[in-house]
Amino acid sequence: MFAISRCFRLSRCLPAFRRGLSESSQSGPRTLVAIDFDRTIVEQDSYLAVSQLLPTRQRKEMQNLIPKCGWLNFISRVLQLLHSEHKVNFATVAMRVRSLRAVPGMLRVVRRLARIPEVELCIVSDANSFFIDEWLQAYDIECLFAGGVFTNPACVQASGAVLVLPYQEQGDCELCPFNLCKGSVLEELTCSGRYERVIYVGDSCNDLCAMKRLREKDVACIRRGYELHGKIAAHGQELACSVLTWRDGHELVELLMPKIVA
Ligand SMILES: [Mg+2]
Ligand SMILES: [Zn+2]
Repeated sequence: MFAISRCFRLSRCLPAFRRGLSESSQSGPRTLVAIDFDRTIVEQDSYLAVSQLLPTRQRKEMQNLIPKCGWLNFISRVLQLLHSEHKVNFATVAMRVRSLRAVPGMLRVVRRLARIPEVELCIVSDANSFFIDEWLQAYDIECLFAGGVFTNPACVQASGAVLVLPYQEQGDCELCPFNLCKGSVLEELTCSGRYERVIYVGDSCNDLCAMKRLREKDVACIRRGYELHGKIAAHGQELACSVLTWRDGHELVELLMPKIVA
């Protein structure tokens, strides 16, 4: 949030990290469908995919840092190395991100839900605005996320390097990294009074933080076979909302449509 002022001082900024909460022409009850990005919209983890642009040994050294330093520091270091040591600039990074495959059926989910007037879509992700914008533009679907994109802001510097900044700095939530508590984003959205109901779609443990803020009338959609699904037996009782599990977008859309248009 504070980071935007630092971001704007850079030569080229992609200020899409927190679009949303704009006035809508639609009145009346609305449903927000909030969707994670990595392994939920795109099949791969975007940070690991971009790190594959590094030579193998260097990439492995960087990946070993993740448990200690976290994902934001990891990708910052990867982007820095790519630019300074390997002369890889933003255009190559963008091409790598644009090549990421969607989770099967997920483009159908997004396009179908976005056509429902009572539904608004948003993304809540610990990736960054540069990666997410590039990928959404590759499929020409950036305009479908009218509810916003809540993620770490990223800029292309004059040198051609990509710089990622923290969305926030928080120390209250142990489920989430210091740079983004998804639960706090969800709380802000639910407390806005803008949405009667929230449906949250995700695969990992920082998505659990967001799901824990959901209410009885809300729905958590947990991807089967991924990190959070393995932990839900232990944490399921912490959720007030109803829970459904899904494998891919084809299954998700069949499960969600009756709940939305009922
Ligand atoms: Mg994810
Ligand atoms: Zn959190």
